[in-house]
Amino acid sequence: MLEIKDLKVNINDKEILKGLNLNIKEGEVHALMGINGAGKSTLVKTLSAHYDCVVKEGSITYKKKDLLELDVAERANEGIFMSFQNPIEVPGVNNSYFLKTAINEKRAYAGESEIDTMDFLKLIKEQTSKYNLDKKLLQRDLNEGFSGGEKKRNELIQLLLLDPDLIMLDEIDSGLDVDAIKTVANVVNAMLDGKKSVLMITHYDRLLELIKPDFVHILNDGQIVKTGDYSLALELDEKGYEGIGIKDETK
Ligand code: ADP
Ligand code: MG
Ligand code: MG
Repeated sequence: MLEIKDLKVNINDKEILKGLNLNIKEGEVHALMGINGAGKSTLVKTLSAHYDCVVKEGSITYKKKDLLELDVAERANEGIFMSFQNPIEVPGVNNSYFLKTAINEKRAYAGESEIDTMDFLKLIKEQTSKYNLDKKLLQRDLNEGFSGGEKKRNELIQLLLLDPDLIMLDEIDSGLDVDAIKTVANVVNAMLDGKKSVLMITHYDRLLELIKPDFVHILNDGQIVKTGDYSLALELDEKGYEGIGIKDETK
């Protein structure tokens, strides 16, 4: 599904990703870990065509297409979903309107007709009640005045309704209480159907306990320096980065 080769990315003329390689196959769950400043967010921002990230070298192939040739909207329409570490507030844009527009853009891209308003409302009701998410968030402006937890729950509503193929979650569990982390895991696990793939960035073991990754990668100083299975996350939890031989290059 996703093949990243020798990726080099600059932010503000500084090299952040320094030759990164990563392959994600259909149906696989990958966790990305690493100390602060290692470049984790830069990787997922690059994959979602964030304007900060300038690709200098390397290639990214997604569903056999050159991802770097696709703009932000095309990537979303091709089934890439990204939950940002800090979702932005967009005053003046109604959340429900935003979500419906995103769904309709994806449908138009696939040559399908617009979603019927009643079907849209029914879908929201079904999905929010299934996972105990607050559908009133949809009546407000996008993320405006949302608490940290509400922003993350709103990302889950978007995730459920947009039904992407590649799900990228950047520290979606940070600042969430145990129940909310369980909700994140329930939503992601319910979506895993053997075809969707996940790339999740997390510092905590708890989310990984609930969504068992097939692969755990450690990113350090712009490169993936270690890859293992779930036991690598456990080892890291026990020994810390230094304990598994990862040096903090930012110090
Ligand atoms: P991580 O998510 O692993 O904590 P990031 O990918 O956010 O790390 O950041 C990697 C490096 O890029 C850090 O040194 C950070 O300071 C730098 N960086 C990120 N965004 C910017 C930016 N907008 N301007 C300048 N430097 C940035
Ligand atoms: Mg960070
Ligand atoms: Mg980050």
